[in-house]
Amino acid sequence: VDNFESPDFYQIDDLLTEEHLLIRQSVRDFIKKEVSPIIEDAAQKAVFPAHLVKKFGEMGLLGPTIPEKYGAGGLDYIAYGLMMQEVERGDSGLRSMASVQGSLVMYPIYEYGSEVQKQKYLPKLASGEYLGCFGLTEPDFGSNPAGMKTRIEDKGEYYLLNGSKMWISNAPMADIAIVWAKNEQGRIKGLIVERGMEGFSTPEIHQKWSLRASCTGELVFDNVKVPKENLLPNADGLRGPLGCLDSARYGIAWGALGAAMDCYDSAKKYALERIQFDKPIASFQLVQKKLAEMLTEITKAQLVCWRLGMLKNAGKATTAQISLAKRNNVDMALKIAREARQLHGGMGITGEYPIMRHLMNLESVVTYEGTHDIHLLILGAEITGISAFK
Ligand code: FAD
Repeated sequence: VDNFESPDFYQIDDLLTEEHLLIRQSVRDFIKKEVSPIIEDAAQKAVFPAHLVKKFGEMGLLGPTIPEKYGAGGLDYIAYGLMMQEVERGDSGLRSMASVQGSLVMYPIYEYGSEVQKQKYLPKLASGEYLGCFGLTEPDFGSNPAGMKTRIEDKGEYYLLNGSKMWISNAPMADIAIVWAKNEQGRIKGLIVERGMEGFSTPEIHQKWSLRASCTGELVFDNVKVPKENLLPNADGLRGPLGCLDSARYGIAWGALGAAMDCYDSAKKYALERIQFDKPIASFQLVQKKLAEMLTEITKAQLVCWRLGMLKNAGKATTAQISLAKRNNVDMALKIAREARQLHGGMGITGEYPIMRHLMNLESVVTYEGTHDIHLLILGAEITGISAFK
């Protein structure tokens, strides 16, 4: 929505610092200037606006929590969350691009990489000179990544990589891929695979009705010789990729809030302007119920995000706490998008309003990074001590 007004029913802004508020405003202005005018057309045409990657870099939206000495922002997790909120208010596909780059590519290099790897890749990823992708999901292993078939064999001078990955955000445009594969001992290892390595290709997945402004593809490895120095030395086991997912899911919890706020803001304005039966539709109780419930859910989700951000800053946020936030907030955003769609009547299905695009985008967000039900089962395991999904 062009003249977007951010709902803040519980004065949560009082909990933010001056710096947080400044960052949010500058990202909001950036999205309004650079994203809002082009996003509908990009989504309708299913084109990834690649020129935005460098602009995202200039705005500090790529890996904002990575330290400044690697060319990134060195910001806290509340700032990161607010950034993702504003980006996804623009479009979930662009937030996906930023989440992948920051949490799934820069984070593992920073957490599990060698100093040489950090210096080689992080500044270029922070500036947007390089675009990265994260390959965990395979055609036969989505919710159960531990079963992955992609393999590396130690050939002395290099690792020989074979297998394939599916549904990989950014893949068709990516300069580097963080790839998770099993070694001869069955341990999951992380590798930095670069475009141009022989036997490595990234075919695009077409005909998506969701995240149309994000590019998604496969990663295919046919006897790729990956230099030994491209192995992430400090990642061992499923813990490696799961650590990255914790960071990305945290950003998604905030991002979904942004999409929900945009739908709510549009619905509120539309309801006040649209006249039926000689009155604004906002005067009907059933419409007020929809708006009241939207504001209630957004307010609850804002509090969850803020508190989770403080726990992240203190290094105390657990996987299950992040699951609760990702699951709740994406579900709440989807429900708000659906209600807002109805509230806009026939106009709600057109590109005149952002609603249908948000709604379709959120259908991917509720599935990727752990489906809605898998996060429920993570919570179930936390409560009972019994895993119902393994
Ligand atoms: P499945 O795992 O086959 O699940 C199908 C259904 O079964 C779901 O409803 C699920 O909840 C349910 N289910 C599965 N197991 C259980 C169980 N034990 N109990 C109850 N229900 C269960 N992956 C990456 O690695 N990198 C990316 O960048 C990336 N980007 C993506 C972008 C898009 C647009 C999409 C759609 C996906 C992306 N993914 C990515 C993949 C995504 O993470 C997977 O789609 C997701 O994990 C689900 O896996 P799946 O699609 O194989 O579904």
